[in-house]
Amino acid sequence: MSNSQANILIVEDEPSIADNVKFALQLDGFDCQHFLLAEEGLNQLKEGCFDLAIIDVGLPDYNGFELCKKIRQFSNIPIIFLTARSDEIDRILGLELGADDYVTKPFSPRELSTRVKTILRRVSPSVEKTAAPSKSKTSPLQLDTKRACIFYHQEQLVLTRIEFLLLSTLLQSPEQVFSREQLMTAAWENPEHSLDRAVDTHIKTLRAKLKLVHPDQLIYTHRGLGYSLRFGQ
Ligand code: CA
Repeated sequence: MSNSQANILIVEDEPSIADNVKFALQLDGFDCQHFLLAEEGLNQLKEGCFDLAIIDVGLPDYNGFELCKKIRQFSNIPIIFLTARSDEIDRILGLELGADDYVTKPFSPRELSTRVKTILRRVSPSVEKTAAPSKSKTSPLQLDTKRACIFYHQEQLVLTRIEFLLLSTLLQSPEQVFSREQLMTAAWENPEHSLDRAVDTHIKTLRAKLKLVHPDQLIYTHRGLGYSLRFGQ
C-alpha cells in the first residue's frame, strides 16, 4: 500500500504541534485532516474514511481516553496517542483502551510518521489476506480492509472490536467450524483469561446485529464444537 492512499485523522488542540505532525505525514505521502476538539474528530471519524487516528490525550472538551472509548464502540481503526505525561502511559498501554501505540511530547514528527507506517503495514496485509474469500459473489458480507469494517448487504455493521474480530475470523473460511478456543485466540488479547461463555455472548450480539440488516441466518452453532459461517443454500 502506498502512503498516498492512507488517510490520517489528527485530534490535537495545539495548532503548532498539529502543523508539525501534518507536515511530516504529508512529506511521507499521507493525507491528513486535523481537528482541535474530540467531538469534531469523533464526528469526522463516523462519516469519513480514515485509516489511522492520532489523538492527543489532553483535549479541551473531553480527553483522548474517552474519545478512544467512543471510537471503539464502532471502529477498530488503529490509534496512536500523543501524551505529555508519563503517568498516562500505563493507561494507554492498558488493554481496555485498545490503543496501538503512543509517543510522548516532545517528539519527532518524523519518528511519529515512521510509527504510522509500521502500524499500517502491520494492519493491512493480514486483513487483506483474510478478505479474499469474502469477495466471492455469494457472500453478502464484505470486509473493508482499509477501514477495518464489515458491510452486510451493503450496510455497514456497527461492531465492537471483539465482534469485528470474531466475524472476520469466521469470514476467513466460510463453512469451516471454528472452536470457541480458536475464536477466542483470534479475538481476545488474553484468551487464557476469558471463558468459553464469552464467545457465546459476543456471537449472540453479533447475530442480533446481522439480523437487524437481514433475516437470513449466517452464523451456525455446532453443538460441542463451535461456530461456522454459512451463506444462503
Ligand atoms: Ca493538548
